[in-house]
Amino acid sequence: MKTKLLAASAIAASLVLVAGCGNSDASDSKKEESKKTETAAKHEDHLDYHDQKSWQFEAGDTQSPINIETAKTTKMEDEGAIELNYNQKVTDEVDNGHSIQVDDGGTAVINGRNFELNQFHFHAESEHTIDGKHYPIEAHFVNESQDSRLAVIGVFFKEGKANPAFETILSNIKKGEKTTVSEPINVAALLPTNKTYYHYLGSLTTPPLSENVEWYVMANPVEVSKEQIAEFNKYYDGNNRKVQPLHDRPVLKHTD
Ligand SMILES: [Zn+2]
Repeated sequence: MKTKLLAASAIAASLVLVAGCGNSDASDSKKEESKKTETAAKHEDHLDYHDQKSWQFEAGDTQSPINIETAKTTKMEDEGAIELNYNQKVTDEVDNGHSIQVDDGGTAVINGRNFELNQFHFHAESEHTIDGKHYPIEAHFVNESQDSRLAVIGVFFKEGKANPAFETILSNIKKGEKTTVSEPINVAALLPTNKTYYHYLGSLTTPPLSENVEWYVMANPVEVSKEQIAEFNKYYDGNNRKVQPLHDRPVLKHTD
């Protein structure tokens, strides 16, 4: 059945191409077949190699963020450890119009693979949800491998005691501007000590929403104060993309 469908869709696709060249000699039965598989052929309709600029990006089925249903996660078989060694001397801090971003460097070894930190930034409320619940803030540490693969580490902030590293970041925000940060930031204080995480394959959460992004969402939140959350919300409150359908993606859990 599958083979038949594929064959039909291939015929339909070739009909489209032939028709495009103004030379249609398809038999009636083939025409009927092509009608049946019109939906299947729709994708091929777009493939005009003379006008490749018109090819459309169709948002795929592996978008981020997602709601993580903890009871439905699968134990990760890989060893999976994450070791982060981020620089305390950051490059700069910028209010880029959709978040507060700290440009920083340093290394991340994720499940035995090497990444470099590009930057980290914040969303309020959190973009990922855990069993349907948001946290007030979620930090995203964007790491890149030598071959340009992206691995984003998500860290939830919950209300608790004041966080000195977050305080330094808040005190350096200049609305709509880039600031040089002179004092060191103890970036490790923005990361949980216990690095148990949920892992799945998703996308960037801002345009171009590119897929094939590895997500590592930390299970344990970091504390920031009520005042710090309020201070961040003066700049951004609601810069979170809605959760996207999981479809059939597995969500793995690595226990530190
Ligand atoms: Zn983000």
